Amino acid sequence: MQLPDQATGEQHLLENLEGQACAFCEEGQLVRGSYKGNTAALCDECGTPGAQLW
Ligand SMILES: [Zn+2]
Repeated sequence: MQLPDQATGEQHLLENLEGQACAFCEEGQLVRGSYKGNTAALCDECGTPGAQLW
């Protein structure tokens, strides 16, 4: 059995997060972006990062 490579896993995580409702505001939806220079899924309304990849 082969372990999934880490980059693919991160891409998959972001794809799963994209389009999800923000947990911090009513209207927001998570979109792919960057936060403090790292790839992250951010709310398009309030800018709260839903997930961040270090
Ligand atoms: Zn939000």
